[in-house]
Amino acid sequence: MADQADETEPVVEVQHSVEVEAAGEIQPAGEIQPAVEDPGFTPGDEGSAGEGELPPTATNAGSGTDDGNPAVPGGSDVRAGNVGRPPRVGRGAAEAAGAPGLLDGSDGRGVSAFRPLPRVIAVANQKGGVGKTTTTVNLGAALADLGYRILVVDLDPQGNATTGLGIDARNFEHSMYDVIMHEMPLEDCIEPTSVRNLFVAPATIDLAGVEIELVPAFSRELRLRRAVVTVLEDFDFVLIDCPPSLGLITVNGLAAASEVLVPIQCEYYALEGLGQLLRNVHLVASNLNDRLEVSAIVLTMYDARTRLAVDVAAEVRQHFGDKVCRMVIPRTIRLSEAPSFGQPITVFDPSSRGAVAYRELAKEVSNGATKRAG
Ligand code: ADP
Ligand code: MG
Repeated sequence: MADQADETEPVVEVQHSVEVEAAGEIQPAGEIQPAVEDPGFTPGDEGSAGEGELPPTATNAGSGTDDGNPAVPGGSDVRAGNVGRPPRVGRGAAEAAGAPGLLDGSDGRGVSAFRPLPRVIAVANQKGGVGKTTTTVNLGAALADLGYRILVVDLDPQGNATTGLGIDARNFEHSMYDVIMHEMPLEDCIEPTSVRNLFVAPATIDLAGVEIELVPAFSRELRLRRAVVTVLEDFDFVLIDCPPSLGLITVNGLAAASEVLVPIQCEYYALEGLGQLLRNVHLVASNLNDRLEVSAIVLTMYDARTRLAVDVAAEVRQHFGDKVCRMVIPRTIRLSEAPSFGQPITVFDPSSRGAVAYRELAKEVSNGATKRAG
């Protein structure tokens, strides 16, 4: 859109200084601390991760960004001044580049690495409005169309994945609140959707209470994992739609998953906060769930007409290599209209660009894995 381009252009101009400052600005331990503590890694807990126990890579990240993380391609070019072109991803690129080596490609496990079914994928990014729910719902529907059995777990008290799949709060009795707070069997709250093979474990606003009510509870970080394990035989993929925060609910999502899929919106400040997310993933991986890996980054709301989007996409690929899905999700009105009809895009407008994109993404993410559930 022309007006969008106009809005963003001046911002791009000032990028150099913002970027350079960002490297030093975002790293103080004090800023990491709340997000680390909130999830409940308080001293005395299993594998407590207080300030002093942050993984060395995380604490080093701040001071280390100037030199760049050698394993991050292009991670140091901006600070070193040897730029071929100006950076455009905005504040946060340096932070992300300096985050623990989860995304530096050095684990050799890109999107297309072999991962056996069933797969439990947390869709997470603590920023709101980046396309987590849209991706969970539509990737889930597209995977279901490929014949996989899919469970979408709605972990956001807003319940957007629930309503976006046509499930009305008045029509179900139990929700993820009961599963997490009262350890109700997960299978008792699973609802079928209008799409064959696609099921949802719904959320309502009650779930917001979990962040507080669960704090004194025993093994509070592992509630979801214990629930998910009980239904794994029935599904090929479990997709967990996380809320826009790094609190206890998201920690439950990460602890239950074996993979994290991170949607990144192709806008200015695209990578802001990403380092913090990656540090939290790293903390969960080292304290609760050593299988956890960031397996995919999905570029969302891509508008090829804006230079900003093109540059953000290039920058994200430069940093994160083969973790970034080849398929990019375009910004389209149809994708934003579908939820109000309670339908995934594959039903709402199967031939639209958004539907095509999510179908391609589903092929890429599933990588032709043999279905195992019936
Ligand atoms: P999150 O779950 O990360 O908060 P959502 O998936 O709810 O983000 O998306 C935020 C808003 O942007 C919603 O109104 C959604 O309909 C819209 N949206 C998401 N992806 C796209 C897209 N590719 N094109 C246009 N609108 C989109
Ligand atoms: Mg959401």
